[in-house]
Amino acid sequence: MGFKQKLLLYGGCFSAVIIFLVGSDILHQPAESIPELAYNVPLDIQIRQQPKRFPLDTNMPPLREGRVSGSIDLSTFSPENDLVAVHDDRVWWESDNDTNDTEDDHMVHKSLEAPLRRVIELVCKNNGTLEVHDSYRETGIHNPKSLHKEGRAVDLTCDDFSMEKLAKICWAAGFDWVLYEKKGGAHIHCSVRRNHNDRAIFAAYSAGQ
Ligand SMILES: [Zn+2]
Repeated sequence: MGFKQKLLLYGGCFSAVIIFLVGSDILHQPAESIPELAYNVPLDIQIRQQPKRFPLDTNMPPLREGRVSGSIDLSTFSPENDLVAVHDDRVWWESDNDTNDTEDDHMVHKSLEAPLRRVIELVCKNNGTLEVHDSYRETGIHNPKSLHKEGRAVDLTCDDFSMEKLAKICWAAGFDWVLYEKKGGAHIHCSVRRNHNDRAIFAAYSAGQ
């Protein structure tokens, strides 16, 4: 990790405060009323408790993705300003291994960088290799309202442990919305709000509610 990134991540140097919002009430609140939590946590530490279960075809939080991560708005989206390139040699990037297209799986929305870097660390800690399949997609396989069109979604797998475990780790890594998706072959689809960042993360649901 570069010095600048460290500065960014540890700037402010508050001690890590992890608050889990316990209780079923939270699930019934409008997404926009869930309080933001400010904290800095080193990237190899999970920032949410892992849920006890994360079955196929379910998502966390149990709300629609648009309500949690926000709908796409291509009129305000700027690939030049909003996308960043994430490189990490410990990751298997599909576009680096696929010579048939021009897609670049390293390109993600800047709001997705922190949880992506965190999930990379957490998967490595579990002796796995994260596989990144789809990130920013200007066109292609995703539906017209897909957050992949703003680089605010990423599709992940890992062959070294169960997909359910990966879903739990993704949630613990701080993505705003995580789906254990069945469509198109089992994978974990993760997305973030446009203004998500590691210091003002959206919500921290406790596990096993
Ligand atoms: Zn996806």
